[in-house]
Amino acid sequence: MRKRRWTSAILMTVMSMAILAAAPAGAVPDDPGPAPGGRQQVEVFAEDGGIGRASVSPVSPYLADRPQALAADGAVTPLVQNGSTDTKLDVVVIGDGYTAAEQEKFRADAAAKWQEVSAVEPYATYRNLFNVWAVEAVSAQSGITGDPDRAAVRDTALGSYFWCEDIERLLCVDVKAVERYAAKAPQADLVLVVANSAKYGGAGYNDVQSPLGYEGIATVAGGNNRSGQIAVHETGHSLGKLADEYYYDGQGTYQGAEPAESNISTLTTDRMRRERAKWYRWLGRTSPDGGTVGAFVGGGYYPDGIFRPTENSIMRSLGREFNLPGREAMIAGFYRHATTITSTTPANSTLDSSGRLTVDLPVPGTTLRWYSDGRELTHLRGRTTIPLSSFGFAAGPRGIGYRLTAVATDPTPDVLDPALRPSLTGSLSWWVTG
Ligand SMILES: [Zn+2]
Repeated sequence: MRKRRWTSAILMTVMSMAILAAAPAGAVPDDPGPAPGGRQQVEVFAEDGGIGRASVSPVSPYLADRPQALAADGAVTPLVQNGSTDTKLDVVVIGDGYTAAEQEKFRADAAAKWQEVSAVEPYATYRNLFNVWAVEAVSAQSGITGDPDRAAVRDTALGSYFWCEDIERLLCVDVKAVERYAAKAPQADLVLVVANSAKYGGAGYNDVQSPLGYEGIATVAGGNNRSGQIAVHETGHSLGKLADEYYYDGQGTYQGAEPAESNISTLTTDRMRRERAKWYRWLGRTSPDGGTVGAFVGGGYYPDGIFRPTENSIMRSLGREFNLPGREAMIAGFYRHATTITSTTPANSTLDSSGRLTVDLPVPGTTLRWYSDGRELTHLRGRTTIPLSSFGFAAGPRGIGYRLTAVATDPTPDVLDPALRPSLTGSLSWWVTG
């Protein structure tokens, strides 16, 4: 059992938090509501891949009261730039515990973390949907409070610290400081805090309500080559709206209503099929995390009364793949922030018929169709650069020009739910005149 490998301190904290967070009948189990005293629910990640929860203060006791900003603090560099912020999912990476002289190291650590995240599917296939911004928070001292031991205290820009709530691997941060730095980036859809430490650790803040619009913060140790998995799991919540698939042995039987999340359910496979509900479309299919999709007992913190789609996806343990329902939800989440088609030629502008027009399809396999005033120009199907003169004005009304529209659809077999498929189509239009 994974639990036995936890230290008793972690187990005690996790168990007491699980009891605190126990949902009343009818409530969704992973929505414990506001934590007492303004505290926040976070996730804590054991080295063996196990995941638990704790309640923490959003305020770091180690954040230095610094009347004057350090020089060059808050500079923003693009690590990955695939397009304008309104057409891409913008990831903001903020460094902590890096001094002014260590900002190059921070950028390298941030790039390595993004590499680690974007190696996991469906990130790998969809990597061109993302921009990644590095925000250079300058710390007065190098390193992170709590590394190597509890006695180590450092003056850092975000006040990050290990041993949060007496849990060594729980890497907490000052949430308001994160917000201040995230605001410096052009856009923040996801926030990742990279701490200047090689010690394994991190945290997932998934009930953050930021005015900037991002829904979660993941903290990870920059020098640890497994900590990027923490960010992947956290985006399962923020982008995929997925529930946790792990549970606590002492939590009893889930008595509540059918949960809203797509990856946990009170329904058996028979009922899913009969009611055409939850992940019934995926039942019996081979899942990337191993085995076939079914209904495995335990999930959403309860060992009984609730099912998860597969034995052990990344929503249960780090280092694993998303299962098929999870992958579907992630892709839909990507497309809430990013589009199937972009162009450096502004949409809705007026173009001269002597020119050419180019569009970009960021995701491999995306299909493309062109329309003139709603009629498809079938000979242009799939072409990303078209000479505007090639189809002239014959198609235009009244000989004064026409509306040219490009429609791009991602036909991925990884999204089956018809309710999600509309977000997999995007279009751009222009006016073409002589
Ligand atoms: Zn989680």
